[in-house]
Amino acid sequence: MTLEEKVRKTLAELGATDAQSVETLFAEVRAAMEAERQDLVSRGATSEAERNQLCKALRDRWLARKSGLVSLIDENWLKKAGKELKPTVGRRFNELREHSAGVEVDALLRAVPVSLEVHVSDPMHRTDSVAAEVSPAVALTDLTLPGYRRPLGSIHPVTRVMREIEDIFLNLGFAIETGPEVESVYYNFDALNIPESHPARDDWDTLYVDAQTVLRTHTSPVQIRAMEKHGAPLYIIIPGKCYRHDNPDSTHSPMFHQIEGLAIDTDITFADLKGTLDFFAKKFFGEKVRTSFHPSFFPFTEPSGEVAISCVFCDGQGCRICKESGWIEVMGCGMVHPEVLRHGGLDPDRYSGWAFGLGVERYAMMKYDINDIQLFYQSDVRFLEQF
Ligand SMILES: [Zn+2]
Repeated sequence: MTLEEKVRKTLAELGATDAQSVETLFAEVRAAMEAERQDLVSRGATSEAERNQLCKALRDRWLARKSGLVSLIDENWLKKAGKELKPTVGRRFNELREHSAGVEVDALLRAVPVSLEVHVSDPMHRTDSVAAEVSPAVALTDLTLPGYRRPLGSIHPVTRVMREIEDIFLNLGFAIETGPEVESVYYNFDALNIPESHPARDDWDTLYVDAQTVLRTHTSPVQIRAMEKHGAPLYIIIPGKCYRHDNPDSTHSPMFHQIEGLAIDTDITFADLKGTLDFFAKKFFGEKVRTSFHPSFFPFTEPSGEVAISCVFCDGQGCRICKESGWIEVMGCGMVHPEVLRHGGLDPDRYSGWAFGLGVERYAMMKYDINDIQLFYQSDVRFLEQF
């Protein structure tokens, strides 16, 4: 009886009624698998195409999902084994499966040599690669050893939150715009209506490359760049890294991420701003969340405001995190200052717009209940693998 015939019968039909005969059967299967593999390795192939084909054929014979020998053994021997034999069959079957990594195509390809003559006469192949392919060291690699386990990575919580926020605005018809992190003082400050005397321009707040160049302190310079590039109407969000002269502590980092939004069109009013940001807050934090707007000051918006949401931890009742106020501030916003529109080359009598800016790390900290911003940058796998 051939191996193919045997794996199509149950153990009972094969007369294997005790552990000893099961062991014998599995030993036979493993020997056959190893012999076929060894045979292919020692025979080699005359071209890479042939090698591919041979390796694939051997793999399919043993490992094809439906009709491969290993699947048939699973189906007919293991699943149909009686209670007393099941532990033995299960153990031997698992060994066989581990052993069968030796007939995986990748492993075989490394082991099966392609004969030299064909390569030398083939002008497409350089001789040095031939030498590598027929190296005996490679051919002798023990393919029955377990492979290296490479753990799968996951998406960093800051990136994850950034994408989530981006998606909400992309669905509203906004486009993503990006710009340089090393920025001119003009785009970072002057064009945004931040005058020479403003404290934000101080060395204590800002990382200067030279007198005219800074690491951008916010993503807002891209507002001007986008206006210059696209004109109006303009509906964009601007995600990216920003830099400030801050000492790292649990809520500060010299590098952090912002997302900024900008909508410019004719007849844009503060009501559009409130409606959009309220929609965003409910999408991100949950439908139950309420928003509240209160006046603030930014040089590049007029009027300016801060947006607070009802505390997501206590439902607005007051707790430690919202400092008993029931509200948490989540972003700054306002109507784009006419000077800023002018710097972007737009006529403030014709166009108006709103803008907002938020810190991505803060959102990630709220979302995942993280109490130290530094955790995001330490690349500690124990932290990162929780996401
Ligand atoms: Zn609270």
